[in-house]
Parts: sequence; structure tokens; C-alpha cells
Amino acid sequence: MRIDVATIFPEYLDPLRHALLGKAIEQGRLNVGVHDLRSWATGAHKTVDDSPAGGGPGMVMKPEVWGPALDDIAAGNTEGSELASALPHLNRPRHDELEGIGGHSYEPTGEDSSLPLLLVPTPTGKPFTQDDARQWSHEEHIVFACGRYEGIDQRVIDDAHKRYRVREVSIGDYVLIGGEVAVLVIAEAVVRLIPGVLGNKRSHEEDSFSDGLLEGPSYTKPRVWRELEIPEVLTSGNHGLVDRWRREQSLKRTFERRPELLAGAHLDKADIKYLEGLGWTSA
Ligand code: SAM
Repeated sequence: MRIDVATIFPEYLDPLRHALLGKAIEQGRLNVGVHDLRSWATGAHKTVDDSPAGGGPGMVMKPEVWGPALDDIAAGNTEGSELASALPHLNRPRHDELEGIGGHSYEPTGEDSSLPLLLVPTPTGKPFTQDDARQWSHEEHIVFACGRYEGIDQRVIDDAHKRYRVREVSIGDYVLIGGEVAVLVIAEAVVRLIPGVLGNKRSHEEDSFSDGLLEGPSYTKPRVWRELEIPEVLTSGNHGLVDRWRREQSLKRTFERRPELLAGAHLDKADIKYLEGLGWTSA
């Protein structure tokens, strides 16, 4: 996969070089280019924003800067912006590198899939989900356009449809100062699902949201810590009982914290009986 990010704060994207993403870069599974939007700005002051048409507070990012930037990035006409991994643990295997990862199904959207995917973070976008992360983990080229101020002139997004498959995406119902943090969130969620990046496929198959439920609590050694014991079943050695206990913890946590998710989850008879015991009633 290749990821390109256009931003007026390239250094903000430095965390992409660390940890799992840095490892994916080292493995050659990921190339990342971070581009300073100001290099497409003209004029002595390299201005990237202007006052809003029709008046009002704040500033809007200029189309004459964003247009050429997205043209060049789509065409691969960028140089000297490759991000190298900053990892200190070159080639050191992770504890969960046990087996390969199979592919996921990809839902066709009816668009030209040879076009790169342009993700535009904005609080007005469609909420980003684990399903999006799963689908986008199969993309060859993802480009992120980081807005600042009041956002990017809408014509940039409308025009980009000629060269990209465009998605405006929100990471939550709150307003950030800029799109950079949203890019880090989305890139991390997507890259960890690229086949082979996370060694053990169970690590993400059992994650929250993967089966429509939240994951239950996790424990490790020691068995007793500050007089608190690991649930007995986890040390029983009975895998069937452990699996059922995990399933019930997952159901319980989802019921308590995100009951609306239960309507879309695949539940069997035993799940429904357990949930009804907790007071859940299916609609
Ligand atoms: N005026 C915009 C509005 O009310 O919708 C908010 C602009 S915000 C101050 C500046 C930039 O931060 C946006 O262009 C976007 O890139 C980013 N941003 C802010 N909140 C976000 C969110 N919840 N999800 C994704 N990106 C966000």
C-alpha cells in the first residue's frame, strides 16, 4: 500500500514512522509520502488560505493550492517526501507473529477501482468505522488531504472526483483543529489490517467491532495482583469454557456500554438466552 498525506504541518505526521506503521514500512508493505502543502502555494507569503466567500469568521483553504497538490500526488509527481521508519527494533519479531493473514471480501462500489482513494477528514463526513478500515486495508493507494481553519474550499473535493474515489470522513462528533490527528487515527486502524502487518490474524479477528460486539476484558500473569485474581475459568485449561466465558463477557460489555450494537450483531440462541438473563429484550 502507498499512503500520501498533504498537510501544512508535515512534522505532525512523524508518528507514522513509529511502531506498527514503521514496521510495515520496513517490511516493504507500506510506503508513505508526507507533502508540505505550502510547496504548491505561490506568492511571496506562500498563503494557503483566504477569507470565506459570503463573509463570516475564520479562513478557508484555497483551491488554487489544493488543486495542483492533489493533481501531482495522484500522478506521482512528488519527490523527496518519503517517510522512513524510525524503529529501533529492526527485524525483531513481535510476540503475535504466528501466522499469516487471509484476505477480506471487498465490496465493489461501482467506481473505477484503479483510481486512488482520497480521504478528506472533516467533522461533516461519514463516521469512520472498523468496516471502512477493513475495506481500505486492501487499497493500493490512499491519499489524505488535511484541512485546517474552516476547512478546504468544497470545489477541491468536487473536482477531485475526476482523479480519485473520494470519501469525506469523520472520526467522531467533535471538532479538531486540523485533519492530521484524524489521519493518524485512520492510517493506524487501516494499516494494522494490511495482510501480514499484524502477525496473528486472531489479534484483529477478535477485536472489538469485528463481529459487531465489543471485546471483553483481558488479563495476563500474575494470577493474583494486589489481591485481585484472574477469573478462575481462564486458568482452567478448558478451551471450550474459556471461549464461552469470553463470548459472554463480550455480550455483557456490549449490553452495558453499547446496547445499540446488539441489534446488528450475529447472535445465536445461547447468546440471546444469556443476554435476556441480563435484562436485554430484542426489539
Ligand atoms: N468548520 C468546520 C466545521 O464546522 O465542520 C470545522 C473545521 S476544523 C476546525 C479544521 C479541520 O480539522 C477540518 O477541515 C478537518 O480536516 C479536521 N477535523 C476536525 N474535526 C474533525 C473530525 N471530527 N473528524 C475528522 N476531521 C476533523
